[in-house]
Amino acid sequence: MLDGLRAACPPLTLDTDPAVCEAASLDALRPFRARPDFAAARVRPLAVAEPANAGELSAAIRWAAAQGVALVARGGGSGLMGAAAVVRPAIVVDLRRMNAVAIDADACLARAGAGATLASVEAALAPHGLMLGHDPWTVGVATVGGAIGTNGLGYLGARAGSIAAQVQALEMVMADGRIVRTRASPARSVGLDPARLLVGTEGTLGLVTEATLAALPRPEERLVRGYRMPSFEAGVTVAARCRRIGVRPACLELSAEELPPAPAFLLVVFDGLRGEARLHAERAAEIVQAAGGEASSGREAEEKWSARHAIAERWAASRNARAGNWLAGGQFDYAHVGVPLAALGEVRAAAHALIRRHELGLVEEGLWHWPELYSVVVTGPADAAAAIRDTIDGVLRAAQDAGGTMEYCHGVGWKLAHLMEREHGAAGLDVVRRVKAALDPAGILNPGKGGL
Ligand SMILES: Cc1cc2nc3c(=O)[nH]c(=O)nc-3n(C[C@H](O)[C@H](O)[C@H](O)COP(=O)(O)OP(=O)(O)OC[C@H]3O[C@@H](n4cnc5c(N)ncnc54)[C@H](O)[C@@H]3O)c2cc1C
Repeated sequence: MLDGLRAACPPLTLDTDPAVCEAASLDALRPFRARPDFAAARVRPLAVAEPANAGELSAAIRWAAAQGVALVARGGGSGLMGAAAVVRPAIVVDLRRMNAVAIDADACLARAGAGATLASVEAALAPHGLMLGHDPWTVGVATVGGAIGTNGLGYLGARAGSIAAQVQALEMVMADGRIVRTRASPARSVGLDPARLLVGTEGTLGLVTEATLAALPRPEERLVRGYRMPSFEAGVTVAARCRRIGVRPACLELSAEELPPAPAFLLVVFDGLRGEARLHAERAAEIVQAAGGEASSGREAEEKWSARHAIAERWAASRNARAGNWLAGGQFDYAHVGVPLAALGEVRAAAHALIRRHELGLVEEGLWHWPELYSVVVTGPADAAAAIRDTIDGVLRAAQDAGGTMEYCHGVGWKLAHLMEREHGAAGLDVVRRVKAALDPAGILNPGKGGL
C-alpha cells in the first residue's frame, strides 16, 4: 500500500522503522492517567511521513483521501489528551521538517513553519527585541502546529491570551489536498475566517503548514512577585480584584498543596515599559495586603519563575524510557476547567468532596491567569484508576453543569471525547460534526478524536 504513496509523492520521506512508528503512536497521554484502557486503544501507525513542504503534504493527502487511509498530524507529541496518539490504523504526518522561521520586526510578526518549536520561534524573535506571547511549560518541544491544534495557553497568558489571539494567518492543507493561504491583518471583517476554523481542532479539519503569529515587545521591565496567601479563596479575591480595577499582570498563578483550610502561594509577573510594570506591581501589592497576603522572598518567586519549564524538560528527557509497567508507579490525573466566577466555590467543593470520598491525594489545586481558570491534580495508588477517573470526570462535569468548559488549554483528543456532547449540547455537537463531514467527508483526518 505504501508503494502507492511513494509513487504519488516520490520526494516524501516515509519511515516504517517499527521503533519510529511505535514512538509516533503516543503523545504525552499514558494509561496511568486513570485510563488503563488507553493501553489497548493505541495502535502502531503504518508509517511516519515527514513532508518537507505544503506541496508534498498536499500530494500525500490526496493519495490518502483516494485510498481512505487515515492521517494523524504530529508536532512535538507533547499533547496531554491523546490527540496525536494513534487509535485507528493510520499514517502519522510528522511536520517537524517544516520548521523555517522568518521575522518581520516592524510588523511584529513571526512566520513559522508548523513544525518549528516554540523555543525556536522565540529565539528568532529575541534579537529583534520581540517575543512570542505563547510560553507553555513545553516551549522547547511543542511546535507551532501543535500549539494551534490544541489552542494552547502559556505562562504569559494573562497578557497574551491563548495562541488563537496571536494567529494572524495560516497556510493549511485541507482533507482533499487543497492548499489554503489566509492573509495576515491585525483586524478583519470578511466573513468566516478559515484560519479560525483550524485553531483548536486537533488536526481533524485540516493540517497547518505555516502560521503567521503576532509577536509582543520584550518587556523593558519584568517584575516577579510571590505572596503567601492565607487561603486559596484570598488568592481568588486578588485575581478578581486586579482584573476589575485594571491591574494587568502578564502571569498570575495561584496554587495550594492541601485541601482547605490551607494557605496558598500566589505568583504574579508584571511586564511593561520602564515604570509601567512597577506601577501595576505596586497596585497589586496593595490588593494582596488587603486580602491578608504577605510578600514571600523575592528569590522564592524568581526561582519558581525561572524553573517554570523544568517539569516539561524532565518529561521530554525521559518520555521514551518506557519503564515496563505503565501502572506500577500509581495513578494521577488532572482537570483544567473554565468555571464562571460565581460558581468557582461550588466546583471546588465538588472536587474536594470527590477527593475525600475516594481517599485520594491532592497534589495541587490552582488558578492560571484568570479566576475562572481552575485546575486540580490528584494522585492515588495503582488500583485507584476508577476512583481518579470518577474524580476528574466529576470535576469536568461540575464545571460543565455550572456553565463552564471542561478544558481550557490541552484539547480533547481521545481522553475527553466522551464528554463532548455534554460540552456542546446535542445541537452544538451536531454543528461541529457537520463541519467535519463537509471538510473531511472520508473521515481521514485524525479519526477517533474530539468526539467527531
Ligand atoms: C509536562 C507538560 C506540560 C505542558 N504544559 C502545557 C502548557 O503550559 N500549556 C499548554 O497549552 N499545553 C501544555 N502541555 C500540552 C502540550 O505541550 C501542548 O498541547 C502543545 O501545544 C502540543 O504541541 P505539540 O507540538 O507537542 O503537539 P502534538 O502533541 O504533536 O499534537 C497536538 C494536537 O495537534 C495536532 N497537530 C499537530 N501539528 C499539527 C498541524 N501542523 N496542523 C494541525 N494539527 C496539528 C495533533 O494531531 C494533535 O491533535 C503540556 C504537556 C506536558 C507533557
